[in-house]
Amino acid sequence: AKESGRNNVQFFEPGMTLAAAKCSRLENRLRAAIESDGLSLFYQPKVSVFSGDIVGVEALLRWYDEELGNVPPDEIIPIAEDTGLILPIGEWVLRTACRQSQAWQAQGYPLLMMAVNLSAIQLNNKNFVQVVKRVLEETQFPPEYLELELTESAIMQNPDRASMILRRLRELGIALSIDDFGTGYSNLAQLKRFPIDRLKIDRSFTSGVMTDVQDAAIFRAVVAMAHSLNLEIVAEGVETLEQLAFVRDLKGQQYQGYLCSKALSPEDFQVFLDSRVRT
Ligand code: C2E
Ligand code: CA
Ligand code: CA
Ligand code: CA
Repeated sequence: AKESGRNNVQFFEPGMTLAAAKCSRLENRLRAAIESDGLSLFYQPKVSVFSGDIVGVEALLRWYDEELGNVPPDEIIPIAEDTGLILPIGEWVLRTACRQSQAWQAQGYPLLMMAVNLSAIQLNNKNFVQVVKRVLEETQFPPEYLELELTESAIMQNPDRASMILRRLRELGIALSIDDFGTGYSNLAQLKRFPIDRLKIDRSFTSGVMTDVQDAAIFRAVVAMAHSLNLEIVAEGVETLEQLAFVRDLKGQQYQGYLCSKALSPEDFQVFLDSRVRT
């Protein structure tokens, strides 16, 4: 950014498109947010389809900026990836999620699986396994309770490397999930060479299972193949009882979605857990 006048930073440089100017403004605000604790995590429960118990939680990035308002992760992540900020942000997410889980446990809540989303850039970073190990040591978080969520495309960018890294994470005891399954280009046959525990079927399929025969067929086929490969199924974006019944009939193991709860602040998540224990 160019200095114009005394404290007036001008982001708009000659030849810059409006979109580029917006990006650089976001980037600058994002850098400031990282330094000033401006980012936070919300937590969405993962539910056992069979018992209705809360079996885990997914950490989701949130950013409230005074000038920009709430910036959704779908806007933050691409900019963070383009600027390299995804590495410090990703590490912060991992550390904060592990600490939060420990804090809940210290307050008497049962320890839940903590799922964290990963970007391809993190996976392909040469220090990634070290970073994960360091955070686990620092936070004393049990690796068996950490789950990392990766998209098919993140793995397929460099499959040989990804398979080596995933194996090392698995050796540490960490669980691995494929996120947004069905939206990428890979298939289950390709995935069998990766040490994966779960497939999360993308919300776009879940939301269509009652109304779109093709979505229902795809969903059924994915579950059948996942079962035969010993992969657990997580249905994303379950919003209705009918969708849940569909998943239950197919013996899918877990679901997430507004039917149970949206992502909640740490305080609200505690209130949510309290209300379930009593009922
Ligand atoms: P995702 O990992 O597929 O997360 C699920 C998204 O669906 C979340 O949106 C969640 O709030 C939303 N969702 C959950 N249940 C329902 C439902 O029943 N109905 C509807 N309509 N939506 C539901 P969110 O929090 O906006 O996150 C969007 C995406 O941003 C995530 O998709 C993930 O790809 C990315 N993301 C979020 N946090 C992080 C992070 O810490 N690191 C990375 N690399 N990516 C992140
Ligand atoms: Ca996810
Ligand atoms: Ca997903
Ligand atoms: Ca998604």
